[in-house]
Amino acid sequence: MDAGRKRELEEKVYAGERLSRADGEELYASDDLVWLGRLAHHRRTELNGDRVMFNVNRHLNLTNVCSASCAYCSFQRKPGESDAYTMRVEEAVRKAKEMEGQQLTELHIVNGLHPTLPWRYYPKVLRELKAALPDVKLKAFTATEVQWFEKISGLPADEILDELIDAGLESLTGGGAEIFDWEVRQHIVDHDCHWEDWSRIHRLAHAKGLRTPSTMLYGHIEEPRHRVDHVLRLRELQDETGGFTVFIPLRYQHDFVDSADGKIRNRLQERTTMASPAESLKTFAVSRLLLDNVPHVKCFWVMHGLSVAQLSLNFGADDLDGSVVEYKITHDADSYGTPNTMHREDLLELIWDAGFRPVERDTRYNVVREYDAPPTLAHRRSEPQQVWA
Ligand code: SF4
Repeated sequence: MDAGRKRELEEKVYAGERLSRADGEELYASDDLVWLGRLAHHRRTELNGDRVMFNVNRHLNLTNVCSASCAYCSFQRKPGESDAYTMRVEEAVRKAKEMEGQQLTELHIVNGLHPTLPWRYYPKVLRELKAALPDVKLKAFTATEVQWFEKISGLPADEILDELIDAGLESLTGGGAEIFDWEVRQHIVDHDCHWEDWSRIHRLAHAKGLRTPSTMLYGHIEEPRHRVDHVLRLRELQDETGGFTVFIPLRYQHDFVDSADGKIRNRLQERTTMASPAESLKTFAVSRLLLDNVPHVKCFWVMHGLSVAQLSLNFGADDLDGSVVEYKITHDADSYGTPNTMHREDLLELIWDAGFRPVERDTRYNVVREYDAPPTLAHRRSEPQQVWA
């Protein structure tokens, strides 16, 4: 990119002007990562100052049995496979109760598209979880799952969402988005929930007062222009509803042979590498710059590693998700090198060490607790420093 075009883009960012599709594609084409980071950090600081949000959450996957076989997914199992599982309602509650310690504020629940579980199972699980953990917010189900519930129940999403909200649903999850452009989507997604239904269901959820996250699975067979297109669709929907709280770029993961049967289920693996840390940082930066109407950008540390997660805070991100213990949908965190558990104290240290002020939030991004600013340089020099994996 020549110096004139760089200046033009800088001026737009510093004037708070909306960036175009061509701007987004040119930002991705730039190899000046430091410059991109500076622009994104300017925008992030305007919106969120030196704050980094996190929450104390746990993931619960009620079943890994799925009717679909998405090409990137190593989580799904078919009925009868040796490590296929489906939790009974009481089992789900018992597992959630085991996770309750440490002032848990959120359960994040996503599941396979189970071929025979009846629709009634899902609101029943939410009701029982809410009764057992009344102070824990239930962030549950992707738009893909809601569309699946429409199929298995014969009810419209409108009624499904009403019943789930009545049972305790606080927010949908942002999953199922992957990459919306059909050119890519047809090769990676194996169910019927595409942009039209994904956006319809989030629009409906927003109209009912829910606030939802949005995601993008990047770093596989898509090109930067597909990422730009994805983000611009979300920006347009956000202009209409204002219901997205956060955008989460999810880094596509390779599969490790760690399942009971030793099978690699990820069918994209032979065709692509994972995004490099530099590509991840660029994706955070360009997303922050394009999405001028979504307040937060989250780095899900499980998928990026802790050092890249810290760096992402200087490339547009202002949220580090939560103290997740298990994450199974695209990989098993045990084999990836990131820790299994990050407690509240670990997240605080990680954020302070990166030079930011931690803020604990709830599911709707209300502040639960503000923490101190990062320690001064003199203080940091007086104590041995930790290297984050
Ligand atoms: S990503 Fe979700 S819908 Fe697709 S195969 Fe995996 S569990 Fe099933």
